[in-house]
Amino acid sequence: MFKSKKALVSLFLAVIMIAATIFMVITASASQSVSTQTNTQYSYNGPTPKYVFLFIGDGMSYPQINSAEIYLGKKYYGNNKNDIRMLGFSKFPVAGTCTTYDAESFVPDSASAGSSISSGIKTINAVINMDPSKKIKYKPISEMLKEKGYKIGIVSSVSIDHATPACFYAKQPSRNNYYEIAMELANSNFDFFGGGGFKLPKGKNNDQPDVIETAKKNGFTYVNTKQEILALNSESGRVIAVNPALDKDKALPYDIDRSKDDLSLADFTRKAIDVLYNSKGFFLMVEGGKIDWACHANDAGASIHDTLAFDKAVNEAVEFYNAHPKETLIIVTGDHECGGMTIGFAGTAYETFFDKIGFQTKSYLEFDKIVADYKTKKNSSNAALEDLLPAIKTSFGLISSKDPDAASNPGMVLTDYEIQRLRDALKQTMIDPKERKYNDAEKIMYGGYEPLTVTLTHILNNKAGIGWTSYSHTGLPLPVFAKGLGQELFDGYYDNTDIFKKLCTIMKVSR
Ligand SMILES: [Zn+2]
Repeated sequence: MFKSKKALVSLFLAVIMIAATIFMVITASASQSVSTQTNTQYSYNGPTPKYVFLFIGDGMSYPQINSAEIYLGKKYYGNNKNDIRMLGFSKFPVAGTCTTYDAESFVPDSASAGSSISSGIKTINAVINMDPSKKIKYKPISEMLKEKGYKIGIVSSVSIDHATPACFYAKQPSRNNYYEIAMELANSNFDFFGGGGFKLPKGKNNDQPDVIETAKKNGFTYVNTKQEILALNSESGRVIAVNPALDKDKALPYDIDRSKDDLSLADFTRKAIDVLYNSKGFFLMVEGGKIDWACHANDAGASIHDTLAFDKAVNEAVEFYNAHPKETLIIVTGDHECGGMTIGFAGTAYETFFDKIGFQTKSYLEFDKIVADYKTKKNSSNAALEDLLPAIKTSFGLISSKDPDAASNPGMVLTDYEIQRLRDALKQTMIDPKERKYNDAEKIMYGGYEPLTVTLTHILNNKAGIGWTSYSHTGLPLPVFAKGLGQELFDGYYDNTDIFKKLCTIMKVSR
């Protein structure tokens, strides 16, 4: 049949090559299909939780949590014992770790990090539940659970149209579309929104249909007094509850500045539970939004107090869990670290003095008001640090060597180097922000903050043994604490998009 032995060998080689090619194609397509499924499959055979809590401490990673625990330990034990006092959620039975990088950066913002948690996608900074090209919209877990019959609640200590809460009810190409985001809230079929207010309720030019009026037409009850909010219960229907005390950004005050009469994040969490409680179940997302803002400003005292307030909010869910242990899941995590906060500083080496943070009585933002008032009375030629020393003492506990308390409290005495830093900062503070011309060193010393105030928090924090590397977020991984049905899935080291995937598995939903 074959004309020669050579032809037979050629045919044999050709067959081998074709077979090898087919094998390579099959192998390649198989590995491709495997790679698209990597880490997407989890298994859970337990009962589906009826009540699901997701707490997000914005800007909260290990340093923010542990610094609050060291602060509590110092407060509780004094200098008698070197120990921490754990937070309620850091005692949860399961603690995993997640990575936070987004589609373009190892340092995400709240929008891309929030989208990873809420809808399981990697996107770019500022984008809410949409792909990096801003064309495809993704459904967040909250919407998927609403379709399953759960009531849905969203609580935040910052404005309710801010990036993190928006990731649980909106799909927008930019987090700055505050009006469009708020209109998605007003037109949503969710059940409870509580905490901060709306940044642009009538649009950028104040000429659009009012968000609150639209929400009311859609069946929401709007309440904004303490009395009305505390009266909310499971008969209240669908509710938007806005705190009566709001800052210029429509957020709750920092917890360190909160008056005892004002509502707290824990109060809003408890009222959300009261409104949402029903036999079919609910999903509640609570954001502690100002841990992040405090860390942007490098203010450890404000961060620690907001982390403690966040822990108290989680405790409301733990109390609910104790009454419904066989039906509840609580997850507590962050979205990214902020500030590059570190326990340990070059100036204090192996020692820390967290008791010094206890002298701080107000946030950087409240001290900024004292500075603003001073600027109305003085100018660059007659401003003097000595004028502000009494306010510095009552706000941060820092004192000059001439202060009568200097001998009894030497740890809080400002060194000559620190006094010089404050004098340099005051000079910049007295210049109109638009006229300030920072050199490279000043850019790093002051960021975008009031130079005198940020220098004071830096000095106090450094004296306590706390360091900062940034006025922005960082790429540090985050803890994920879990308690309740399906808690075991949150053990291990995984990506933040896996929080969504694990929740989908436990809740038996898919997109
Ligand atoms: Zn954030």
